Amino acid sequence: MTKQNIHQITLPTPYAVGDVHVYVVKGETVTLIDAGVNTKEAWDIFCDELKNIDLKPEDIDQVVLTHHHPDHIGFIGKLDHVNRVYGHELTQLWLTRDESYFEHYLNFFNKLYDQWGVPEQYQHIEKTVKQSFKFTTTSELTHVLTEGDKIPGLESFITLETPGHAESHLSFYNPETQALLAGDFLLKHISSNPLLEPPVKPGSERPKPLLHYRDSMRKVLDYQFSNIYPGHGEIFTGHEPLIKERLVKQEKRAHKVLDFIQKGPATPFEICQFLFPKHYQSQFGLTMSETVGQLDYLIDTGQITEVIDHGHSRFIANHAVTNN
Ligand SMILES: [Zn+2]
Repeated sequence: MTKQNIHQITLPTPYAVGDVHVYVVKGETVTLIDAGVNTKEAWDIFCDELKNIDLKPEDIDQVVLTHHHPDHIGFIGKLDHVNRVYGHELTQLWLTRDESYFEHYLNFFNKLYDQWGVPEQYQHIEKTVKQSFKFTTTSELTHVLTEGDKIPGLESFITLETPGHAESHLSFYNPETQALLAGDFLLKHISSNPLLEPPVKPGSERPKPLLHYRDSMRKVLDYQFSNIYPGHGEIFTGHEPLIKERLVKQEKRAHKVLDFIQKGPATPFEICQFLFPKHYQSQFGLTMSETVGQLDYLIDTGQITEVIDHGHSRFIANHAVTNN
């Protein structure tokens, strides 16, 4: 097969994370990895940048999505000539704005936030979802990808399931060149937030994003990556020390949470306020997801227990504080 070239295109977003990168892989087939946000500014820059590599939007044969977040699926609906759209099956729910899923999504968060002691003024779930629709277009997956899948026209890459930041997260690895199209799985300058999501089936157990994220990171420790092409920040190498550092940092944060809980039972909201006193108000969804991630980790490692009384959760430490 012909040599593939990976072209990075950087686009603005209205989000705190700043710019997002999409990638155009030019081989026999032209593949776009991710689709920015749906703003005029991002689309205009995208079209201009395509010109620099002698392409027009109509030249894109297929789109591959790393995950369902709005800064990665935004203008896909503008590429309406494209009839091959690849991604994780959960991405479909967001592309089509599946009504029953979003009803379930809102119910799930409302119920959980009540249970976790979150005051009403922070329960902006509906607003957050509407906000994300504002910067995306609708579309549909034509092909679902799972672990190990190859994509026709992009055969040199294999699909790696890398859930955590999003349950729908996929990365794409080229064993020959050892390139990794990483989406938001691995970013050099910041650690990705493991974001809370409802279970796909109402009533079943919710996913544990931080545990999934740890598993995804550990899973790629043995891989050799030459270049990692991320959704945000610079292209980089050296994932092994980065992952090890992130795992340790997370364990330290969990320890801080454990210390707090050892002083007395606490609700997730109280723990969130303790962990992020400066940011919990302005970035409630992110900080709450991070907090719950630490709680999931401490439960998983047998250090705390969730006690639910009359529909309200408190977390208690399994062992008394040792005096040393
Ligand atoms: Zn992103």
